[in-house]
Amino acid sequence: MAASTTPEFVASRAVGEATVTAISDGSGRSTILRSLSAPREIWRREVDADEHDEVVLGYNVAHVRLGAASILIDLGFDDPGPGSQWGPPRHRRSPGVPAGLAALGVRPEAITHVLITHAHGDHIAGGAIERDGRRAPRYPNARHFLGRADWEGNPARAQPDSLLARHMGPVADAGLLELVDAEREVAPGVAMLPAPGESPGHCIVRVASAGAAFYFLGDLFHHPCEVAHLDWVSDGRDAAAMRASREALIAAALPSDALLMTTHMPFPAFGRLRATPDGVRWVEA
Ligand SMILES: [Zn+2]
Repeated sequence: MAASTTPEFVASRAVGEATVTAISDGSGRSTILRSLSAPREIWRREVDADEHDEVVLGYNVAHVRLGAASILIDLGFDDPGPGSQWGPPRHRRSPGVPAGLAALGVRPEAITHVLITHAHGDHIAGGAIERDGRRAPRYPNARHFLGRADWEGNPARAQPDSLLARHMGPVADAGLLELVDAEREVAPGVAMLPAPGESPGHCIVRVASAGAAFYFLGDLFHHPCEVAHLDWVSDGRDAAAMRASREALIAAALPSDALLMTTHMPFPAFGRLRATPDGVRWVEA
């Protein structure tokens, strides 16, 4: 039998009968913690940041295989290269999400569902490509799910060069966009759950199979310090909503010892919660 090799930007875990795979779309230095709601001298004690208060963030998406469903959670960036609209100068790209899917033997046409945690650029910019001179959905047979509050009333829709218009517009035009208002089972064992705070329509994803559970958390937490301190939130987020969403996740995931994954912790960004005398902490898994 031919030896198969998994590239270093792809990592799989079993969750019951599901296979969950983290795909790195790159990493980069970020200033996100500079605006944390905690005083600098407090958070600096717990965070390994550089002299500019910057930390390295991962950019990760997930693929879930369960029964007949082949599900991509978040779209990542557009294709690496000179035409990319995503270009923080110190950002290191991986070969990209489609290359990660190819390593799993998954063609874009075979994706059945795309679950989008929220409409920030780093989560949606892989949504559309040029095809025959027009922009078209990259995953042409997938139903795409997005929290309604990140689509309706989002001013970026009216800006033709925004990542939302360029990458979600063609998906909506193709009739492939479905908006999520409340907990929604999108495939047997797989549900989107509203978890607002990072954005008004932010959702997380739960996979339940054979007594095991997995949650893809999107930007519910960017860094482990936010797990230990549920009220630590960076600028531009709804702090009260974020805290409530975090508490709901902990109430669900801690008793079941669920496997978790976030977008922005270092690849593969898998973890679990552990109870502490005064709360919870994140441990890598
Ligand atoms: Zn993000």
